[in-house]
Amino acid sequence: STADIGLIGLGVMGANLALNIAEKGFRIAVYNRTTARTREFVEAAGSLADRIVPCETLEELRDAIKPPRPIILMVAAGAAVDQQIEGLKPLLQQDDIIIDAGNANFHDTRRHMNELAGTGLQFIGMGVSGGEEGARHGPSIMVGGPEASYRRIEPVLDAIAARYKGEACQAWVGPDGAGHFVKTIHNGIEYADMQMIAEIYGVLRDGYGLSAGEIAPIFAEWNRGRLNSYLIEITAHVLSATDSVSGEPLVDMILDRAGQKGTGRWSAIESQHLSVPATTIESAVAARSLSAMKTERQLTEERFGASARGTLAPLSPEKLEMLEQALFAGKIIAYTQGFAVMAAASREFGWNTPLGTVARIWRAGCIIRSQFLGEIAKALDVATDTQNLLLTELFSGYIETSHPHLRRLVAESALAGLPVPSLGAALAHFDQLRRGTGTANLIQAQRDFFGAHGFERIDGDGTHHGNWLPLAGSEAES
Ligand code: NDP
Repeated sequence: STADIGLIGLGVMGANLALNIAEKGFRIAVYNRTTARTREFVEAAGSLADRIVPCETLEELRDAIKPPRPIILMVAAGAAVDQQIEGLKPLLQQDDIIIDAGNANFHDTRRHMNELAGTGLQFIGMGVSGGEEGARHGPSIMVGGPEASYRRIEPVLDAIAARYKGEACQAWVGPDGAGHFVKTIHNGIEYADMQMIAEIYGVLRDGYGLSAGEIAPIFAEWNRGRLNSYLIEITAHVLSATDSVSGEPLVDMILDRAGQKGTGRWSAIESQHLSVPATTIESAVAARSLSAMKTERQLTEERFGASARGTLAPLSPEKLEMLEQALFAGKIIAYTQGFAVMAAASREFGWNTPLGTVARIWRAGCIIRSQFLGEIAKALDVATDTQNLLLTELFSGYIETSHPHLRRLVAESALAGLPVPSLGAALAHFDQLRRGTGTANLIQAQRDFFGAHGFERIDGDGTHHGNWLPLAGSEAES
């Protein structure tokens, strides 16, 4: 046994991660359910093949790795992970570490940890972000599980992770399912970020009547300012691509039906379980679901008409400033919500997740990477209340300047019939949050009236009931 580490699953992510590990000087043993894929992988590995040990069975894989053995699972999330763990369990020894690096639901990760408790085997749930490119040249890595197990694999993770100004974008974010939870919320924020960008694209296309080619340089320009990020950069890039078949902008030839694999939905579900509003993420998930209802949207357009094209005033430098600042404000609120969900989960499960570190390891390698995350890290380092980024000095300054633009954008879009669900949710969240006196007094009155649920008073302690009069005519009905 000569390998430092093992990897199961040579799909898109696994193959690239294995090459990354080999390139950094580690010997890696690899196994894939379909053996042909293992052979093709090694043949294509070039000079890195010297450090790769191809294995055709799990026994071979076990024997190839120096104990105690770290083994990365990079297979489809769900049943495949269960099957591989079952296969490995009887083969492994005390202190070997199974690392699930796929996009697992953190409840599954917790379940695996419970099932392996007492066997002597260790389990790590590890979020890996950055897609194919990231896996090959440096992903952002969010690790959850026993800290001692993390320390044993840290040298490998440190070598393969993305770097932001020299700092490796990998960290232990807590015990238990913390790593997969943080990865899930990363993806949830990614959903909101992408949706808001798409909403601004929609306003420019359907409201101002701009072509893809005209919108691309706007995003490219924004990428040089406060919105600088990978997602804005690729937006400018994809908007300038031409379809080789039709000669049209490629984006115009793509069906407006978005896919989803679950992490956005899990983010929304977990935020609901924790009673933390994550409405920018929820609305982004809903928008993807609605995007899939192509026929229904076409029928409704026939009945009610599409949003009127070109009804917005001509695009001026002031309008461009409004759009940029509105997107910035929306982004701030989306990240505020995402970090609040992680803060609540950390408290609920006792993870002690270092949120400043989470922001720092998202500065490079992952899909939502941006310098903005560096500012979040700075704000969180000194924040007393990590539940509300908006109240940090830095972000309260930003939102103060940008929220009037968000308000104008949402209002103008509503009047023109242009849908901006996530930006609208961001504005609504901000407006609800900054109102010390809300309207839930009425909700409590209604609940007490029909269900005797009781209410608290503003002028005293305890639970009270109203001396409600019966509805007129209710006695006659009963
Ligand atoms: P692929 O579809 O490219 O590869 C899937 C891999 O899983 C293959 O090696 C396949 O083996 C294996 N597999 C599937 N079912 C089983 C099973 N029942 N038993 C054993 N092996 C099985 O997937 P990706 O590489 O894209 O994704 C892997 C994981 O990484 C997923 O959890 C995904 O969500 C996550 N991820 C993906 C990202 C991406 O950008 N693609 C980004 C971040 C995370 P076989 O060849 O035999 O079919």
